[in-house]
Amino acid sequence: ARLANQIAAGEVVERPASVVKELVENSLDAGATRIRVDIERGGHKLIRISDNGSGIAKDELTLALSRHATSKLKSLDDLENICSLGFRGEALASISSVSRLTLKSKPAAQAEAWQAFAEGRDMAVQVQPTAHPDGTSIEVKDLFFNTPARRKFLRTEKTEFSHIDELLKRIALSRLDIALTLTHNGKVVRQYRPVSEELAVKRIAQVAGKGFTEQGMHLQSGEQGLYLHGWIMPQETQTEPQYTYVNGRMMRDKLILHAIRQAFEEHVGATHVPAFVLYLEIDPRQVDVNVHPAKHEVRFHQARLVHDFILQAVQQLITTEQS
Ligand code: ADP
Ligand code: MG
Repeated sequence: ARLANQIAAGEVVERPASVVKELVENSLDAGATRIRVDIERGGHKLIRISDNGSGIAKDELTLALSRHATSKLKSLDDLENICSLGFRGEALASISSVSRLTLKSKPAAQAEAWQAFAEGRDMAVQVQPTAHPDGTSIEVKDLFFNTPARRKFLRTEKTEFSHIDELLKRIALSRLDIALTLTHNGKVVRQYRPVSEELAVKRIAQVAGKGFTEQGMHLQSGEQGLYLHGWIMPQETQTEPQYTYVNGRMMRDKLILHAIRQAFEEHVGATHVPAFVLYLEIDPRQVDVNVHPAKHEVRFHQARLVHDFILQAVQQLITTEQS
């Protein structure tokens, strides 16, 4: 089972940033409103995610670390209607198979906190009492300590940290209502404070720069159960960020990116790709998120319709702006 986990880890855990992604998504699924990410040495040495979410009961700690254990899908029907970010029950098993992982947790209804420790291939998970406030912390030490081939692919501390920073920016724009703190080697690097929808512009400016929200075009368009909103910056001065979200999930979906590019090619004729932060809301039954283990891509049941809707929404925005 441990070997299977290590193989699965290859798909889910490429680098420290992918560990951070899985763990922060778990915190979000657990209803956390405050998440703290502590990194040491670019994540080579330590990745710690602490949240104030629902916690994991003592009896479920070992289960949470085993493969295909997910508390999020109760039936196959749920697979058609996925609202949580995680659902494969693979992340914790995979990560713990290639690191030294400590999971500490306390659900509000449980009097004491408990911790589980797992190290590499050694399947025996040790459960002990510990001290922890309501919520969960997961500490991942010495990533890839037992898979030297994988460790070789880790880049410098600085590069790995910049991937984590970039990831947290995308997450910060997926959930404006969450407080997010990122530290590196003991110093606070980012602090995203919760904002309401009306103040979205504040957080977007913090992530993408003031120029992006001041000169960018605000898009808002809906029809046939599809709703697209966000910002686009058509000027050549800025080509980052390029973030898209589908029902609040971060995506780098080819179909969406294609529609945006096509709108610009036709109207501006420019070869440059604009900066954008765009949110697509769609009936969850109309998308399949279970396509890729790292979940970057989706499959739309009505791909053509979605593509053309985005194309037209962006085209319309560009035309009004030009006239
Ligand atoms: P998945 O997210 O696909 O269910 P994971 O391996 O990421 O699988 O997590 C396994 C299980 O551990 C989750 O289904 C959840 O019950 C529990 N879990 C993981 N992280 C947290 C957390 N931060 N807070 C509460 N429960 C968690
Ligand atoms: Mg998960």
